[in-house]
Amino acid sequence: MFPGDDVARRPERPPSHPAKGEQVTYVIAFPCVDVKDKSCIEECPVDCIYEGDRMLYIQPDECVDCGACEPVCPVEAIFYEDDVPEEWNDYTAANAEFFADLGSPGGAAKLGAQDFDAPLLATVARKESES
Ligand code: SF4
Ligand code: SF4
Repeated sequence: MFPGDDVARRPERPPSHPAKGEQVTYVIAFPCVDVKDKSCIEECPVDCIYEGDRMLYIQPDECVDCGACEPVCPVEAIFYEDDVPEEWNDYTAANAEFFADLGSPGGAAKLGAQDFDAPLLATVARKESES
């Protein structure tokens, strides 16, 4: 090893705009459940954050991975897919599963709120509202 070789190199991580087609997206996880603050919706340039009954979901094919939504969430529910905490890994699939029947609607505003959730939510106890 040469001096300087041990300088920490950034781990492999795609740039913030990975090529379309890669299975990388932003994901909404457990903190959003029964909160639905909706600050994120206003930030999304492609209107790909959809409202379910108990949480919001990012349509993985429509998300352009811009990251604009992530910092505005007051409960830090939004993660880059590779950064989803392990305990909430199931939410990556849940965000996609929410769209099993909806497909790619091409805009959340025109679709409106839905009265169902991804199957995962059936296993998640309802949170009392905390304020
Ligand atoms: S801002 Fe956070 S809590 Fe609010 S809807 Fe979006 S993801 Fe859910
Ligand atoms: S990362 Fe960008 S495109 Fe994807 S959901 Fe967030 S604001 Fe929308």
